[in-house]
Amino acid sequence: MRPLRIAIIGFGKIAGDQHVPSIAGHERLELVATTSRQGKGAQGIPGFADHRELLREVSDLDAVAICTPPSVRYDIARDCLEAGLHCLLEKPPGVTLGEIEELACIAEGRQLTLFTTWHAQANPAVDAAAELLAGQRIACMEINWREDVRKWHPGQQWIWEPGGFGVFDPGINALSIAAKIFPGPLFVREAELLFPANRQTPIAANMRLASPSANGDIPVVFDWRHSAGEAWTIEIETEAGMRLKLLDGGGRLEVDGQPRATEGLGEYATLYRDFVDLIDERRSLVDLRPLRLCADAFLLGRRTIVEPFED
Ligand code: NAP
Repeated sequence: MRPLRIAIIGFGKIAGDQHVPSIAGHERLELVATTSRQGKGAQGIPGFADHRELLREVSDLDAVAICTPPSVRYDIARDCLEAGLHCLLEKPPGVTLGEIEELACIAEGRQLTLFTTWHAQANPAVDAAAELLAGQRIACMEINWREDVRKWHPGQQWIWEPGGFGVFDPGINALSIAAKIFPGPLFVREAELLFPANRQTPIAANMRLASPSANGDIPVVFDWRHSAGEAWTIEIETEAGMRLKLLDGGGRLEVDGQPRATEGLGEYATLYRDFVDLIDERRSLVDLRPLRLCADAFLLGRRTIVEPFED
């Protein structure tokens, strides 16, 4: 079978760290081009300044992985779908729900695959947690997502611009896991967004989620001002007394205090396996739940101004 010829658009940190090795590791995929306005790219692979040049110059492309910041993804994805290409979108898939719904319509009309990836969902520990929680009632649940923005986003200015998501850029990973494992609908009940006086996006957020399947509100803390290591944890207790703890951003699971062994391909290898399967089946997978929770937090959130943030 002919390999699927794929290009990476927006060659930054995640493209180099995860997309290049995962594409190389999939027997059906061949990386044939990359784009970057600054001329970055993968060794030995032709690079182009932007997606328009790529679409003009590279023939026989089948698919693209769009790894730019989310604010420019809609225009790029639209052009790529209209050029007949299957599209994998990094998370968050865009900056509004409306633009992703529009992309989904275009993909459907052209029988192309649109895949809104949520890498944290692709952990086997997250699948195991979802299975254990299916049909259960939740007695209590807590989400803590704290990290040092200087360590994880050094020099990235787009995260502070409108549509850059701020602390919701990592926080949406927690929401993507919660949306996958929670045995019922989840809503934002209350949100406080803490904006540095000199920035357009929040550096921290305190929220309360609610659900008819939970006994009380679900506290959520996102904080980028955390210099002592990382805490990416979700803790849950069911009404039947089972205690689950997801650690390391969904990478590890404990059940009733005991580690639960889980095996899988790894986040990005799983995403590319699923992308190829979706293309073969001529299907899209568009999961808007994490972006909706995030959008609702911004819609509902109280704004608190905190001290200015300098890189
Ligand atoms: P990044 O290092 O800043 O890379 C983004 C790349 O997109 C840049 O190298 C830039 O390349 C290009 N770009 C920036 N603005 C653009 C524009 N206006 N038009 C076209 N291209 C533009 O960011 P990243 O950390 O890789 O994150 C990219 C996406 O992946 C984000 O949505 C993020 O949430 C997601 N993600 C990141 C991580 C992580 O650990 N970093 C993990 C999972 C998911 P040029 O300036 O050379 O064009």
